[in-house]
Amino acid sequence: MAEISIFQAGFCTHPACMVLKGAGFKSQCFPSSAYLISTKVGYFLWDTGYAEHFMDASHGIYRLYSMVTPVTFNPAQSLVLQLKSKGISAKDIQGIIVSHFHADHIAGLLDFSGTNIICSDQAWTSIKNLKGILALKKGHLPDLIPTDIEARLSFVEQLPSIALPNELRPFETGWDLTGGGEVLIVALPGHAIGHLGAFIATEQGWVLLASDAAWTKEAYISLRGPSELSFLIQNNRKEYYQTLNQLHQLHRQNQVTIMLTHQSESLS
Ligand SMILES: [Zn+2]
Repeated sequence: MAEISIFQAGFCTHPACMVLKGAGFKSQCFPSSAYLISTKVGYFLWDTGYAEHFMDASHGIYRLYSMVTPVTFNPAQSLVLQLKSKGISAKDIQGIIVSHFHADHIAGLLDFSGTNIICSDQAWTSIKNLKGILALKKGHLPDLIPTDIEARLSFVEQLPSIALPNELRPFETGWDLTGGGEVLIVALPGHAIGHLGAFIATEQGWVLLASDAAWTKEAYISLRGPSELSFLIQNNRKEYYQTLNQLHQLHRQNQVTIMLTHQSESLS
C-alpha cells in the first residue's frame, strides 16, 4: 500500500466567486499542495507547488500572471526544503508527476535537477513551444521548465493501461505507474490539456488526487462550477463539467477520498 504526505508550498488569493459561482467577492486563500507518494518502488512527487522560481519567472509580460493571482510564498515553504527537513533529498525521488503545466504546479521543478519527470504527452506537446501571451493564456511561465527536461521526460501514455476496480467507477481505465497497482493515473480533462489525476491505494482506502479538476469540495459535492470568467484560462468547459460530474458520482459512492490541490476552507 502507498502512503501520501501533503505539503503546502505557498498560496495565492482570489475572490471566492472565481472558484465557486455565487460565493461572493471576499478574498480567499488557495494553498498550492504537492504530495509525496511513498510506494513499494520508492518515492514519487505529485506536482511541486510554488517556489521562489515563480517570482523569478514572472518578469516582463509574465508579471501579468502574478498580478492576476497574487502569490504569498516564504522560501522556507519550498517543497525541496520541506522534504529535506524530513531527510528526503531530490536524489531519493524516483519521479515527479506533473498533473499539468500551470505555474503553481511546476514552480519547484528547477529544485530537482536530474529527477525524472512524468506527464501526459498531450500536456507537454500543448505548451512546449509557447512563449509570451500564448504561454500566459495557458497559465504557463516558460522559465519554470528545466532546460534539460526532454532528456528527463516520460509520458503516462507509455505506461500500461489497466481496467480500474469497480469501486473507482465512473472512472474505467488508468495508467499503472509502478506496475503494482498502487498509483493509477487517470485523465481528468477540461481544466488544462492533458490534465491528470491519480488513484492511490492506501491503508485507509483509495484516495484520488484530483489536481485542479475542481477548486473546492463544494464544486463536486453540489455540482457548482466556477466563474464563467475562469474559462478564459481553463481549456474546455464541456469537458470540465463532464469531469466534475465524474467527481460528483465518485463522491456519492463514498468509497474514495478526493483531494484537490487548492482545497481550502468551506466557501459556501
Ligand atoms: Zn491549474
